[in-house]
Amino acid sequence: MTLNLLPMASQDLAWQVTRNESAKSADERAEILANPGFGTNFTDHMVDICWSEKGGWHRPRVQPYGPISLDPAAAVLHYAQEVFEGLKAYRHADGSIWSFRPDQNAARMQRSAKRLALPELPTEYFVDAIRQLIAVDADWVPTQDEASLYLRPFMFAKEAFLGVRPAAKVAFYLIASPAGAYFKGGITPLEIWLSTTYTRAGHGGMGQAKTGGNYASSLVAQAEAYEHGCQQVLFLDAQEGKYLEELGGMNVVLVTKDKRVITPDSDSILEGITLASILQLAQDRGYVVEQRRVALDEWRSGAAAGDIVEAFACGTAAVITPIAALRNEDLEIRMPEIADGDRVSLSLREELTGIQYGRIEDRHGWLLRLDA
Ligand SMILES: *Cc1c(COP(=O)(O)O)cnc(C)c1O
Repeated sequence: MTLNLLPMASQDLAWQVTRNESAKSADERAEILANPGFGTNFTDHMVDICWSEKGGWHRPRVQPYGPISLDPAAAVLHYAQEVFEGLKAYRHADGSIWSFRPDQNAARMQRSAKRLALPELPTEYFVDAIRQLIAVDADWVPTQDEASLYLRPFMFAKEAFLGVRPAAKVAFYLIASPAGAYFKGGITPLEIWLSTTYTRAGHGGMGQAKTGGNYASSLVAQAEAYEHGCQQVLFLDAQEGKYLEELGGMNVVLVTKDKRVITPDSDSILEGITLASILQLAQDRGYVVEQRRVALDEWRSGAAAGDIVEAFACGTAAVITPIAALRNEDLEIRMPEIADGDRVSLSLREELTGIQYGRIEDRHGWLLRLDA
C-alpha cells in the first residue's frame, strides 16, 4: 500500500520524511558551499507530492535526493506538459533563513499549471514543501554575501499514456541547489542580441507560463546570441516584430532621464516577481512606472536623444544586470557608460538584495521566515 490518499481540501498534509543515509558530510558540504557555482550541486533531500485525478494531491514526502524513475511513455517526455518555478532561500546575519515572496511564486505556478492543463498546487502546500525541505537541508543555505540556496519547484505529467490529453497522474517535486554570488568580481553590463529570426511566444500561447517549452524554443536564439558575442537574447513580439518582449529568462526595463521606469506589457511575457518588486521600489523612490507596449523604435530614438539613460534585465538568479548594448546585424543601441555608483539599476539592486538578506527593513512584508 503506497498510496495514502488525502483529499487535501479537508486534511493537512501528512509528511513522510526519509532521511538520506548517505548525506554529504559536513566537510564535503563545506567544500561545495565554498564554491557552489550555479545549478550543478544539490542538497541531500528533495520533496515530492503526487497528484491523481481520483485522489487529488497526496503522499507528500521528503526523501533522499536522487534519480526519478519514469515510464518511457510518461506524457511529459513526449508532450512537454510541465511547469516550474525558481526562488531562493537567503541566510541572514543572525543565521535565520528566509524566502522572498514565495506566495507569488506559488500563485504564478498555479497560473502556469492552469495554462498547461496541470493541477494547481495550493499556496500553503507550496510553502510547506519549502519549509519541509529547509527543515532537513538548512545547513545547505550558504552564509557568504550574495550566496543563496536556489529552490526549484517543478511539476510534470507522469502518466504513461501516448494519447494527447491532460495527464491523470502528475508529480510535483522540489529540489534545491546552493548558488554562489552571480557576479564574481563586479557586475559586467550585458551585450544583448536582438533576435529577428525567432520569437519566444505568441498571442494566446504560453509565454506567460513558466514552462520548459519556452526555454526549449529560446535555446537556438541564445546560441545565435553567443555566436555574435552576446550573453543574452531579447525577443520582439511575434505578431509585428516591433515591440519589446523579454529575454530568454529575464524581464527588461528602461529608465529615463525624467525618472520613469518603462517595461513591456504583453500577454506573452512571463510576469517576473523580481520585476514587480523593482517597479515597487522605483515607485517608492518617486519614479513613474509605465507598464505598456514598448516599441523597439522608442528605445532606439530615446537612447539616441539621451532620454533613455539606462536599461537593465531582471530575474531571480541575477537580480538586476545592466544592459550595455542591444544589437544585431542591422542595429546597435549602445547605452551610455555610467559609473556603477550612478546607476539607478545597481542602486535598486542594492536595495532589493538588502531586503532579501535582511540588511534593509522589509517595509512591504515580502520576507517569509522558513526555519521557524
Ligand atoms: C522566471 C522568468 C523570469 C523572471 O522571473 P522572476 O520571478 O523575477 O525570477 C523572466 N522571464 C522568464 C521567461 C522566466 O522564466
